[in-house]
Formats: sequence, C-alpha cells, structure tokens
Amino acid sequence: MSDIPQALAAVKQRIADAARDCGRDPATISLVAVSKTHDAATIRTALEAGQRVFGENRVQESRAKWPDLKAAFADVELHLIGPLQTNKVREAVALFDIIETVDRPKLARALADEMERSGRQVPCLLQVNTGLEEQKAGLHPDSVDSMLRLCRMEYQLPVIGLMCIPPVDEDPAPHFRMLAEAAERNGLKVVSMGMSGDFETAIAQGATHVRVGSAIFGERDYGEQPAEA
Ligand SMILES: *Cc1c(COP(=O)(O)O)cnc(C)c1O
Repeated sequence: MSDIPQALAAVKQRIADAARDCGRDPATISLVAVSKTHDAATIRTALEAGQRVFGENRVQESRAKWPDLKAAFADVELHLIGPLQTNKVREAVALFDIIETVDRPKLARALADEMERSGRQVPCLLQVNTGLEEQKAGLHPDSVDSMLRLCRMEYQLPVIGLMCIPPVDEDPAPHFRMLAEAAERNGLKVVSMGMSGDFETAIAQGATHVRVGSAIFGERDYGEQPAEA
C-alpha cells in the first residue's frame, strides 16, 4: 500500500512518455485509477497522492466505499466501468460522475428517466464490443451510430464518448483504432480504452481516458464477492 504514490507517479510518467512519443499533449489524457476490490484505506492513499479520477465496476461495492471518500475529497470524479442492471440505475446516477457502460436501449432509457427524475445529469459513454465476443457486454460496432441517434434524439441522454475492452488474446491496436474512428465519426470527444497491459498502445490510437488498476494498486484479490453488480 505504501508504494501506491510511487506506482501512480510511474504510471503518469508512462502516460506522458506515450503521449509525447505520438505527438500528443499529455494533458489531454486522463488517468482513471481502477480501485475495484481495494478498500477505502488503500484508495485514500491514492487520493492523498493527488489522484482524483477513479473507476469502479460494481455499484454495491462502490456504495460501501465511496460516499465517505467523496465527502472527504469533494473534487473526485467516479466512473462506473462495469455492467449496470436497470434496477441499480437510481443508485448509479446518485453516486457516479460518469457511466461508461451504456450498452442497450433499455438501460439508456432507464438512465435518461432517472436523470430527469433526480435532476442530476451524468455524462455517459457507450460500451462497444469491438471483438464481437459473445460473453462480453457492449454494442455491436455496427449499431453504435444508430444507438447514439436513439440516445440523443429519443432519450436526451448525455452521451459524450465510447469505451471498449478488447479481447485479451488479440492485438488491441485495431480495436482501439476502430473505437477512436467511431468516436470521431460521431463527433464524440471521449475515448476510454487501455488498461495496465496496453494503455500505451491505446494512447497511440487516441485514448482520452485510460483505465489502469493493477499497475497502480497491485494485483487484485477477488476473494469472496457477490455475483453481480
Ligand atoms: C478491472 C478493469 C480495468 C483495469 O484493469 P487492469 O488490468 O488492472 O489495469 C479497466 N477497465 C475495466 C472495464 C475493468 O473492469
């Protein structure tokens, strides 16, 4: 835990180097520190080192950890990066500052309804299943443009970008390129892609947000976890 500030600094340096290598301004790339499975004390170490943008993949787990941390560090930006069930939309809209995993019309509509009801607008990303993996969440790449139209015209959902998780056993570069092109084509500013093993590749392909967990916090111990978000 004590070397989290050091690991954070090293990741930031690698982001800056990767950006300069492809002629990008490092300030245009945001580090989302993925703190899933790590306890509040561990997360606090990263907060005290100045990190403010975090990612979590479970609503329930986040609800246990983040309200107190957010009260203590008011400028935190918390991203939901895991699957969202419609029955958890109310909690998600209340707690998260960006929802990265919108992947179906029913969820988009439920989010839009809850934002209208609560008066809290939470920017969203569409998750794209660039590898067409059956077990993986995300929109088919061919349906991104039409889903975006639906979100904008029918639901007035604030969609600001795209997110993907490429297949583990493939070169991620073509997946990242596909996502960046779909974002560009649709005038979307935010492109969330790249994890501990491939964030430099993602930056070369145009990522604006990289989601990095184990390179900052170390390996995760999943232990016993509830089965669902
Ligand atoms: C866990 C997770 C990450 C971070 O993965 P690391 O390999 O630990 O960096 C990024 N994105 C998503 C969607 C995740 O679930």
